[in-house]
Amino acid sequence: MTKPIDLAASVRSIVDYPKPGIIFRDITTLLGDAVAFRQAVDELVRPYTGLGVDKIAGIEARGFILGGALAHQLSAGFVPIRKKGKLPHETVRIAYSLEYGVDEMEMHVDAVKPGDKVILTDDLIATGGTAEGAVKLLRQQGAEIVSACFVIDLPELGGRRKLEALGVEVRTLMEFE
Ligand code: 5GP
Repeated sequence: MTKPIDLAASVRSIVDYPKPGIIFRDITTLLGDAVAFRQAVDELVRPYTGLGVDKIAGIEARGFILGGALAHQLSAGFVPIRKKGKLPHETVRIAYSLEYGVDEMEMHVDAVKPGDKVILTDDLIATGGTAEGAVKLLRQQGAEIVSACFVIDLPELGGRRKLEALGVEVRTLMEFE
């Protein structure tokens, strides 16, 4: 077996993006590195192997990239959770809180069945507002959230605690301040 690499080193940090004072953690560099991308997906799926997961729900847009890979590895289906107005069929919608203000996300009304075992994924959890909205939307449709996984956690922003308070197990590969 090859020695694992330091995945955090493959994440690019962009200072003052999208606005002054913010350090944006850019995972496109990790995704573009064949070794890092494979290792990240392998590490994300490992705890879920053999659990019999029905669906991976990925949050637009970087959650789609990870979610597709996870779904393939776990032989699960994939469910896109999108910003409002993007999905073609009948949807269910929920409002969720952003750092400043609110927005709405949607998924297809028939994307999950009651009792489906679902793992939620996105590239990064910060305040947890986005993931919380997705958990509520999936649960409204009867899904059982087995876990939520992210490449990056920004622990100071409290997202993990927010999801855990909803009874959702959270797994992440690395933390940044
Ligand atoms: P939250 O709702 O947890 O505050 O924010 C998480 C959402 O915002 C995720 O969908 C994530 O993709 C995006 N996001 C916020 N900050 C960053 C960042 O520094 N890097 C990346 N890649 N995504 C971010």
